[in-house]
Amino acid sequence: MTGTTQDDYTDRYARRVRGMTTSEIRALFAVASRPEVVSLAGGSPYIAALPLDAVGEMLGDLAAQQGATSLQYGIGQGTVELRERICEVMTHSGITGASPDDVVVTVGGQQALDLLARLFLDPGDVVLAEGPTYVGALGVFQAAQAQVRHVAMDAEGLIPAALEEAIARDGGRAKFLYTIPTFQNPAGVTLSEQRREQILDICERAGLLVVEDDPYGMLSFEGDAPLPLRARRREGVFYCSTFSKTFAPGLRVGWILAPHAVREKLVMMSEANVLCPSAFAQGAVTKYLSTMPWQQQIKVYREIYRERRDALLGALEDLMPAGTTWTRPTGGLFVWATLPEGLDSKAMMPRAIAARVAYVPGTGFYADGTGRSNMRLNFSFSSPDRLREGVRRLSGVMEQDLAM
Ligand code: PMP
Repeated sequence: MTGTTQDDYTDRYARRVRGMTTSEIRALFAVASRPEVVSLAGGSPYIAALPLDAVGEMLGDLAAQQGATSLQYGIGQGTVELRERICEVMTHSGITGASPDDVVVTVGGQQALDLLARLFLDPGDVVLAEGPTYVGALGVFQAAQAQVRHVAMDAEGLIPAALEEAIARDGGRAKFLYTIPTFQNPAGVTLSEQRREQILDICERAGLLVVEDDPYGMLSFEGDAPLPLRARRREGVFYCSTFSKTFAPGLRVGWILAPHAVREKLVMMSEANVLCPSAFAQGAVTKYLSTMPWQQQIKVYREIYRERRDALLGALEDLMPAGTTWTRPTGGLFVWATLPEGLDSKAMMPRAIAARVAYVPGTGFYADGTGRSNMRLNFSFSSPDRLREGVRRLSGVMEQDLAM
């Protein structure tokens, strides 16, 4: 069928669905994935860097030798074997002493956010989040009918005074702070060591829970990333992560490390949601972590992404019109650019697509429609040459818009 279909069901939708609109990013993916378009838009890891033959063999064995469990239903919390492995993985980020009993396996990092939102948010509740923040988290908070208040960042991440102000503005009503302290998506900045303590102190004083989202912490290009918030404080911090960026997003395996008392509720919510995470995907991750050189693979990803980040930053330096600024990430997948006065990243998008380059307009990362002078640029997926070509096309479009 072609053309648009009329939606006769709008009056029947639940209230939480009525405000939902298609994410700009999703809509862009269709166009951006055409081969002639250089996509700086996505957030896909470079899966071609995985030893796919070896992974294939491992998956075959998982079905042939362990099919009785790996193709069966599992338990809501996730397998003990994987939760033990997850605790070991977290020690590499500096989170020690976590009990497998306090880990809940989720369907990607996305379900982790959804469970926490369902657990804590009533309609009208306030969530504090960095401005800009992860588009998928905005979708979750919107589905929960919560209000997102953005807290400003600078090159050192979340600004403590801005957080204090935001807490005060809502009279201490906010339910939690949602934060991506390390190699933030989309801004590419990292909360400094000193500010980590400050932010935790502020939250503790205000009785504000912290949801720490850490998909990128292991993808550091310059030494180790600062310790996660959860490694510094246990109480009141919910730590979420995923194997999507360190292994493979197609498996959809993530987790929450939650204070013990809360873990049971999370499991019940997950059971109501998905019964149990995929036993096969969990088996795959467990086997990968126990039989394959996963830390080496992360080093491979880091090397590739560092080279690509350098290529993107170099191209921006050489080719962007005067007045453009951008962040210099020390890990992760994204650069956040600020356009010269007068340019509008959302309005410019159709011209960029016509020039065969795609990015994500900054507006997708704010709940309040701001971000028109920003764009997110991804460097994990395209080769250094393609990145440079993408920036060349993009700067051409910007020059044209500036001349209009
Ligand atoms: N949180 C952040 C900050 C992310 O960038 C992503 C993925 N882009 C997720 C959560 C979701 O991770 P997953 O793909 O494992 O669901």
